[in-house]
Amino acid sequence: MSPNATLRCFSGCDESFPVTRAVYRCPRCGGLLEVAHDMDALARLSGDEWRQLFDSRYMKTQWPYGSGVWGKKEWVMPVVPDELIVSMYEGGTNLFWAERYGKTLGLSDLWVKLCGNSHSGSFKDLGMTVLVSVVRLAMQQGLQVKAVACASTGDTSAALAAYGAAAELPVVVLLPRGKISTGQLVQPIAHGALVLGLDTDFDGCMAIVKRLAEEGIVYLANSMNALRLEGQKTVGIEIVQQLDWQVPDWIILPSGNLGNASAIHAGFEMMKALGLIDRFPRLVMAQAEQANPLYRAWSAGEREVTPMQAQPTQATAIQIGNPVSAPRALRALHAMNGIVEQASEQELADAAARADRTGMYTCPHTAVALAALEKLVARGTIAPGERVVCVSTANGLKFTEFKTRYHDGQIPGVVSHAKNPPLTLPPDFGQVVDAINARF
Ligand SMILES: *Cc1c(COP(=O)(O)O)cnc(C)c1O
Ligand SMILES: [Zn+2]
Repeated sequence: MSPNATLRCFSGCDESFPVTRAVYRCPRCGGLLEVAHDMDALARLSGDEWRQLFDSRYMKTQWPYGSGVWGKKEWVMPVVPDELIVSMYEGGTNLFWAERYGKTLGLSDLWVKLCGNSHSGSFKDLGMTVLVSVVRLAMQQGLQVKAVACASTGDTSAALAAYGAAAELPVVVLLPRGKISTGQLVQPIAHGALVLGLDTDFDGCMAIVKRLAEEGIVYLANSMNALRLEGQKTVGIEIVQQLDWQVPDWIILPSGNLGNASAIHAGFEMMKALGLIDRFPRLVMAQAEQANPLYRAWSAGEREVTPMQAQPTQATAIQIGNPVSAPRALRALHAMNGIVEQASEQELADAAARADRTGMYTCPHTAVALAALEKLVARGTIAPGERVVCVSTANGLKFTEFKTRYHDGQIPGVVSHAKNPPLTLPPDFGQVVDAINARF
């Protein structure tokens, strides 16, 4: 089966384009675009047949269907020939029962989806494999640009640089200087991308890369580009698949630019429309209090998100004041009976420390989701027996500075309640024994 997929206007203008066209906004109304799938063709298989097909491919070797994204190719990007796909077998990340951490909150059925256990260390790989594969197809059809480019808070550029390098495509990344972790900065450097550190924030980088794309100099790889959402939507589908096609009660997601929240919604819509599930989970979008434009709009009951100046947060990947996918996220909130919650710097640091003490190794964004979870449980919104899935979006190892600063008590404005700095001792047996006895 090779159904079609096209780009169309999210606001409903009657215009559509091939997915290989370098168009990022509706030329008529200026609004966002989305990928439309041929649902009639897809409905030729029953929900049961889809489940079986997806399960038969999951984590197997046959190219490219062992990828968590391309195992669902018909739903994601059917128009790319297999031989053009650029994949590093993204997806298929572990979903684990966070028994001990759940217990500390009084939850018995808490799961964590470790999307950071992925090629470039964050869930951005899911969308980037799709975008870079489509760019390859577009170039074969004559697309001419100098490079594929993105503005990034770190993880997008790492993923783009990796997939671009694998596909032998030139990559340009625009980063807010001094605002991302060393680990994230090193990744695009190592992959040979042109790395431009600008003295601004993410939103400032975004404005420049948008203009580069408008002038046809680069192809835009930010999540304003609807292609990425198609790969990113597989995270929700994969969670349900890993739960033996049972829908959890809640999904909690750290949210900045709001592409992933929108993508999760799109995945659930498809599963429901095609008969794989019969209900939605409730979706919680968790924002850093320092960069919370969606939280503000939602709490005030507004129908539009007003851009704000994002303030510094440890959760650098969601330090975004003008989220591009806000209209999509508002639709997702409505459809999934969603909630927006926020976490202060103190709350996210505490949540990370508490979770790490139970064997997790949380990045600051995942910590925002966990802090939101802790608040919703304390408030009684989430009940003890409900099944909750927290999406962990990046690997904690990418955020070593966050951890070391916490345990050194060096995060500005944060009290390190659970700090655990190393002890320095002379090489003396007696003193080592004393140290052990003092602690345990
Ligand atoms: C990109 C990113 C997010 C936020 O995703 P959006 O789609 O921008 O809302 C959260 N956590 C990490 C680690 C990210 O890289
Ligand atoms: Zn339009």
